[in-house]
Amino acid sequence: MSKGYITEIFDSFQGEGPYVGRRQIFIRFAGCPLHCFYCDTSYAKDPHPKFCDFFGGSSMIHSKKLIRNPMSTKAAVECIKELRTSTPDLHSICYTGGEPLSSAAFVKEIAAEAKSMQLKNFLETSGNSAKRFASVADYFDFASIDIKLRNHLAVEERDYDNLYGNELECIRIAVDRGTETIVKVIVVKNTPVGEIEQICKDLAGLDIKFVLQPVTAHSSMKNADAGADIVVPDVKELFELSATAGRYLEHVMVIPQVHKVMGIR
Ligand code: SF4
Repeated sequence: MSKGYITEIFDSFQGEGPYVGRRQIFIRFAGCPLHCFYCDTSYAKDPHPKFCDFFGGSSMIHSKKLIRNPMSTKAAVECIKELRTSTPDLHSICYTGGEPLSSAAFVKEIAAEAKSMQLKNFLETSGNSAKRFASVADYFDFASIDIKLRNHLAVEERDYDNLYGNELECIRIAVDRGTETIVKVIVVKNTPVGEIEQICKDLAGLDIKFVLQPVTAHSSMKNADAGADIVVPDVKELFELSATAGRYLEHVMVIPQVHKVMGIR
């Protein structure tokens, strides 16, 4: 059995994409090799946190406790079981990060255990490694895969084409295996329409849901002075990008981060 580093395990409502509002148990794996300027989970970028925070969506249901890392698969599954007792509205187990593919072997073991408990598995990933994605794909019912734009600064410019290639490959693998596939693009102000158009051309014909997610401004963004006016796209831009995507893809949606509005994780 593997051991691995988890930043937090908790239950909450999904705050992004077409499953917004569905109750999930979130496992936030530690570490991420990317550097998106808008990252809102930078606390999960430490690959080796000493402890995993374990808490329920309502602190009235579960008080917070700290579990020492690295955690065993068994310990992670025990957390799932405990949260499961107070979540009759549970949709799925969400494997998120950080970047869960950085812990692929550990993810796979937990996901296999969850499947054996008749639970559904939902992967959120930047899609930075098609090889690692392929190693876990069979265990997932849902995959939400990001496409990073050049202006996200996720990687150095020279590495961008490699990242994009891996993201596209992850999407193709997920679709081929019959996984419900969500492709998410974070949109900042002045996102080039042509870049979104090229992505949609590359995705045309694939059975996916395509989500344009306007970035949420926050104080710990890397370009720190970035106020909402500077980074958040206006509605006119979103209409234009959505219409552009709609010329190539069937299921196009614009959905902001709802958990930020609700003030929850
Ligand atoms: S991929 Fe996600 S966790 Fe990693 S830097 Fe980007 S936003 Fe943050």
